[in-house]
Amino acid sequence: MLNLKQIRYCLDQMEQMFPDAECELVHDNPFELVIAVLLSAQCTDVLVNKVTKSLFEKYKTPEDYLAVSVEELQQDIRSIGLYKNKAKNIQKLCRSLIDEYDGIVPETREELTSLAGVGRKTANVVMSVAFGEPAIAVDTHIERVSKRLGICRWKDSVLEVEKTLMRKVPKEEWSATHHRMIFFGRYHCKARNPNCSECPLLDICREGQKRMKKEK
Ligand code: SF4
Repeated sequence: MLNLKQIRYCLDQMEQMFPDAECELVHDNPFELVIAVLLSAQCTDVLVNKVTKSLFEKYKTPEDYLAVSVEELQQDIRSIGLYKNKAKNIQKLCRSLIDEYDGIVPETREELTSLAGVGRKTANVVMSVAFGEPAIAVDTHIERVSKRLGICRWKDSVLEVEKTLMRKVPKEEWSATHHRMIFFGRYHCKARNPNCSECPLLDICREGQKRMKKEK
């Protein structure tokens, strides 16, 4: 497992590699971000952005999503995986926003996770990106990178990964680290073909060392 000094080194290298890492889901306000994150479950940001381009022109408010049938909304997002359930959740979420929050996206984790289709990861993204609250939303990239490097244990749950990162990364760096680690996982330490041979972290990475030995 990496010590704090080594983790510091990882964070600094990721910053150098991806200084401008940020949320890649296109949105203009917290409401659009919630919808985009909800749609992004098990789906790429690129595909979500393709769909939300026209979706956000047609639907601007929670009321707009409730003014159509669920079948119509499903058709509007049908190229996205799990679109049937996601359309249902969007309408439920819009209903709750109107009934309980005056149509405005709430800012706390507890309130956000009370909305349909919004789990801890989505809530963390919204808190961090829309409201500037420090949070680390652990997605598949962050989980993989943290485990490969040995910041977290292989057997850790997603929640354990989040808690470990919150303990080992300075709070003021949580949100930036979240984006940089996603970029690092998405574009460099990829699931299938991590670029170990050109990785600045190879010397301290347990997974990279293992892979390089196998290649010899
Ligand atoms: S050495 Fe390989 S596995 Fe380790 S962080 Fe770099 S790319 Fe990922």
